[in-house]
Amino acid sequence: MTVHTPECIARSKAGRSLCLCEIAEVQARRRERVGLTLAEAAVRLSVSPDTLRQQVKNGRLAATKIGPLWMVALAEVDRYAKASSGRPGRPRKVVA
Ligand SMILES: [Zn+2]
Repeated sequence: MTVHTPECIARSKAGRSLCLCEIAEVQARRRERVGLTLAEAAVRLSVSPDTLRQQVKNGRLAATKIGPLWMVALAEVDRYAKASSGRPGRPRKVVA
């Protein structure tokens, strides 16, 4: 459910088809499905894109090539962040 700011409500009354919060929500939903580019994932994981590309090559990070871009699902970014725990290249063993 979209939460609208008062400004937004005023704007949609003025006749805009999509308010800013709806646009943000659509973009968030698209990201959820498609994921992040390798560069975006690298920023989120605080590693260099080259490091991440290496991780994909090593099979430590699952990524899908779409056209010229490697895309990483959000869930995979989260999983990788937890698994590597700040040490990309040496994923920590999951302790139950
Ligand atoms: Zn709104």
